Amino acid sequence: MAGDVDTLRDMIKDAERVVFFTGAGVSTESGIPDFRSPGGVWDRFKPIYFDDFMSSRESRRETWRRKIETDKTMRKAAPNRGHQAIASLVARGKASAIITQNIDGLHQVSGVPDDKVVELHGNSTYCTCLDCSERHTLEEVIGPFKQDETLPECKSCGSEYVKTATISFGQQMPEGPMRRAQAEAMAADLFIAIGSSLVVYPAAGFPVMAKQNGSKLCILNREPTELDQYADLVLNAEIGPSLGAAVGLN
Ligand code: NAD
Ligand code: ZN
Repeated sequence: MAGDVDTLRDMIKDAERVVFFTGAGVSTESGIPDFRSPGGVWDRFKPIYFDDFMSSRESRRETWRRKIETDKTMRKAAPNRGHQAIASLVARGKASAIITQNIDGLHQVSGVPDDKVVELHGNSTYCTCLDCSERHTLEEVIGPFKQDETLPECKSCGSEYVKTATISFGQQMPEGPMRRAQAEAMAADLFIAIGSSLVVYPAAGFPVMAKQNGSKLCILNREPTELDQYADLVLNAEIGPSLGAAVGLN
């Protein structure tokens, strides 16, 4: 059903447990391009698969070159009205969790506690060692790489497999967040998918899971998505202004 902001406002008012599901569209108003819009990341880079990262030093170098490029935008980005609207519902106890495909950490920067953010694709604002899980800052890795393309080594175990804490194509989905996302989707009475083309699986399975388990489903996205047919409310609008109005942000 196509709808308007007033309908979304009423649905939120009536709900007891809202769960948000967010994609790259939530962060475009912060200046971070999404993947599938014109000028998005797909227009510029072909993905590097996890196996290539593991087996080829050149793939690892290319990964860090790209990270340095995209980090320039990500570092400057601040949460926008959409993030703030979501954070306000979490603070009011209305929303129990944010399941996100984003890797920019902006929900946390907007004030949402870590334990309310379920990151399905990890986080690109820091790095981890794939062998011993030791955490490394981006600066530790990028600093030396910028000088002469020196690949990072784990300061704890010496492994050469230090990677941003993201899930690459071909990499296994993280077990804990997947379980938690499932539990949240099942417990929701209003599931709001925002700024996602809803084509990346298994992440895009959660809106349908919620709906099948009795939740209402709202999809807020500039353009139609694959899952619109399942939704109780489809809002084709800009995220910041419409969500801000729906939750009564000043
Ligand atoms: P996507 O690029 O496939 O879809 C984004 C959707 O948001 C598009 O349908 C677009 O029309 C819509 N959109 C963009 N800006 C909008 C706005 N201001 N208002 C309303 N709608 C808007 O993104 P996805 O579904 O999240 O899949 C991309 C994958 O890439 C994700 O898995 C994610 O891990 C990764 N990614 C993350 C970031 C980030 O962390 N910010 C950025 C790019 C890609
Ligand atoms: Zn290590």
